Amino acid sequence: MNILNARLRGRSGLYRIELNGARIASISAQQAPAEANEGDIDAASNLVVPPFIEPHIHLDATLTAGEPAWNMSGTLFEGIERWGERKTLVTHEDTKARAKKTIDMLVDHGIQHVRTHVDVTDPTLSALKSMIEVREETRHLIDLQIVAFPQEGIESFKGGRELMTEAIAMGADVVGGIPHFENTRDQGVSSIKFLMDLAERSGCMVDVHCDETDDPQSRFLEVLAEEARVRE
Ligand SMILES: [Zn+2]
Repeated sequence: MNILNARLRGRSGLYRIELNGARIASISAQQAPAEANEGDIDAASNLVVPPFIEPHIHLDATLTAGEPAWNMSGTLFEGIERWGERKTLVTHEDTKARAKKTIDMLVDHGIQHVRTHVDVTDPTLSALKSMIEVREETRHLIDLQIVAFPQEGIESFKGGRELMTEAIAMGADVVGGIPHFENTRDQGVSSIKFLMDLAERSGCMVDVHCDETDDPQSRFLEVLAEEARVRE
């Protein structure tokens, strides 16, 4: 199978991309538009690019705006509050259906690598269980990385540390955090130390929502950077 009549970034003219299985075997310039044989893909002079990456999405919370109420202030904190209400209505099938619909939209836009945060401040870890299934069921479409994300805090949420630990044991790929959302600054700092320990023990990567606030006093980024530096 070949891709014909492709445009490439930064180059003029049309190109033929020869494929060998899932790999590109060669790329050659065409003298003129070519007729596609059966099984070929005619790019019709459109730009052909490598797949895009969606590095930050919350697939467990997508397509829920207005349910059960709209975020009237438009602020992040009201958004988190509204999500807290929606979370009580979440079911296994509801999460899977919304995530898969969103993944279809991502794929339609050329995205093949996705990192999603999944809220694990839920004693049942319901969304995480759904997303682990979705990761398997969409493997032919995308590479999906799941971040164990403590939306309501690690230290401030009852059982937060245990839920984070369980989420990683269940198969989340990345350790998350939200230090500026913890009740006190000290809890923010200890949440970072906890999540870095967890990542170190499990060999997982770290992806923290860090200082996502207008408060200039929020300085957790330097705590996180220092924890990364001393653990090299
Ligand atoms: Zn986020």
